[in-house]
Amino acid sequence: MSKARAANPPPGECRQCWQHAEDPDAHRHLGFFEDCLECIACAATNHGNGTKIVPKKPSIWI
Ligand SMILES: [Zn+2]
Ligand SMILES: [Zn+2]
Repeated sequence: MSKARAANPPPGECRQCWQHAEDPDAHRHLGFFEDCLECIACAATNHGNGTKIVPKKPSIWI
């Protein structure tokens, strides 16, 4: 995983959520079972009918 990849997400996937998924600092403040409010809000407003894929990575960076 690289920053360059986060800046160029696969077609149909959400750039903002990719940046969060690729950046350990973006979710560092979250607890193990907490969800990122920014990612939730993004999913609610930007992902529309659910065709966009939200990358989901295990919280291995905590
Ligand atoms: Zn998103
Ligand atoms: Zn996030």
